Amino acid sequence: MATAFLGLDVGNTRLSAALVSRDGRVLALRRGEAPPTADEAVEALVRLTQELMGQADTALEAAGIGFGGPVDTRSGEVRGSFLSSGWEGLPLGRLMAERLGMATWLANDADAGGLGEARFGAGRGASSLLYVNVGTGIGGAVLLDGRLHVGATSSAGEIGHMVLSPDGPVCECGKRGCLQVLASGTAIARRARERLHREMTGREVGEAALAGDPQALEVIDEAAWWLGLALANAAQLLDPERIVIGGGVAELGEVFLAPVRASHCTHTLGPAAQTPIVPAELGYDAGVIGAAAVAMEGAGARSDP
Ligand SMILES: [Zn+2]
Repeated sequence: MATAFLGLDVGNTRLSAALVSRDGRVLALRRGEAPPTADEAVEALVRLTQELMGQADTALEAAGIGFGGPVDTRSGEVRGSFLSSGWEGLPLGRLMAERLGMATWLANDADAGGLGEARFGAGRGASSLLYVNVGTGIGGAVLLDGRLHVGATSSAGEIGHMVLSPDGPVCECGKRGCLQVLASGTAIARRARERLHREMTGREVGEAALAGDPQALEVIDEAAWWLGLALANAAQLLDPERIVIGGGVAELGEVFLAPVRASHCTHTLGPAAQTPIVPAELGYDAGVIGAAAVAMEGAGARSDP
């Protein structure tokens, strides 16, 4: 019987479960809406896993969870969630290990995404990597010497809350002028409202920019400029071999990435200004592949049944 890893992706609006082979291929996948409470989400994750196992002739080696919010990778507990209730202090890794009857690893979803890209996507072959996911929010991951670097308090890679403009707009974290309120999809929608007096989602602004709308392009350029500044600050400190950009905003492609590179180059001193900035490759399945990679590498907090 073939063996595989279970990848669970716990997003703010969606739960996903997949069986992933050791070489990063998705063998089977189930998705569901994220329920409003943590207890219901745990039940839904167990149900999705049972559905997967019912149809697959595969033995599972271990499970990995990528959680869409801060986690403590020492205790295996969730620190909290901005969108749904009951998560604070929940020992999600241990709960799932007991329910699934297998070793379970818990990591933040951006860390999982970065690890997935490092092993199976756009980060392959790089010994050090900065990964940034630009969607409705902004998350990130740092890999050093091929390993995920979570830091002393599991807070490494939180580039979305790097303060770039201390007098800027208020962020959901309570600080002002974080990268997330300047360059995320949510920020792009807000700037379209302020500057163009148009009610659009971040995605609609992106589509207008791709169609050549000069005002939409200005809004995208501005978000890209802020991201490039954040990457320059991070690169000056870490000097990664490669920078990988994923998430919905990055799917705009060169219309977004070209001004990101220009801003990064302007704000970086020395040869680090030429660090390659490339789009992520794992796309829609990145969350579950990354979560499975967490289990394969033992990169998060381990819980045993
Ligand atoms: Zn913030």
